[in-house]
Amino acid sequence: MAAMTTVIFDMDGVIYRGSETLPGVVDCIRNLRDHLIKTGFLTNNSVRSREDYIERLRRYGIDSEIHEIMTSGEATARYLISLGYNGQRIYVIGGKGLATTLTASGFEVDTLDEGNPCDFVIIGWDREISFNKIARAQHEILVNGAKLIATNADAMFPTQGGRLLPGAGSMVAAVERASGTSAEIIGKPRDLSLRYLLDELGSGSDDPSSVWVVGDRLDTDITCGNSHGAVTVLVTTGIASRKDGEQADGMLRPDHIIDKIAELPDLITEADK
Ligand SMILES: [Mg+2]
Repeated sequence: MAAMTTVIFDMDGVIYRGSETLPGVVDCIRNLRDHLIKTGFLTNNSVRSREDYIERLRRYGIDSEIHEIMTSGEATARYLISLGYNGQRIYVIGGKGLATTLTASGFEVDTLDEGNPCDFVIIGWDREISFNKIARAQHEILVNGAKLIATNADAMFPTQGGRLLPGAGSMVAAVERASGTSAEIIGKPRDLSLRYLLDELGSGSDDPSSVWVVGDRLDTDITCGNSHGAVTVLVTTGIASRKDGEQADGMLRPDHIIDKIAELPDLITEADK
């Protein structure tokens, strides 16, 4: 195993939960940075822009810079540009941050009222999804030949207090069903957004095993890290329990399980021996 250069944190359930910073997080991040280890923050949530996340992390007591943050929305914009689809027109089902991110990357985002023919339908989590939005997406795909892309496909969205809400994946499923098409999914468990973040951090050509990925979900965070060849750490302050982690197989299985982020520096010291 290569010496660690970079630690990538999922945010919700790892850095914070609801309005609280999880115990030990601020000290852990300071400790890593003091040891010249790069830190990055990777989220499947596309509702907010990267600028929004800088502000959000600051409220939780963590200073960050734009190159340390990657969202599935930003990854979607980069992916389309990498394929040569610069400036194309997109119909978006998603939060304000997704539209802002795509516009800032040079795409034309069409609103429900405008109704211009679109090249892509992009779906992220949308608290205001409606029959009309699904119908418009269906029309773009079936009539105008738009390609369907999902920023992520998380089935459920857990809230503080444990109540589950429908995740972006349930909205993607509605449009897939209505259009008879399968969406291409950009976020975790695919390692595309992780690779974009590592490139931003200057860690893109590092040995994958010098990268540690810390998350609270097996089917997204841990699978993403494992498929990249990173060292994976499940922290049990979010979705998955210690038992879930211990019983997981294959790509879902974390290399390490900790019950709080405060245990991470000791784990790293141990692993580096
Ligand atoms: Mg999470």
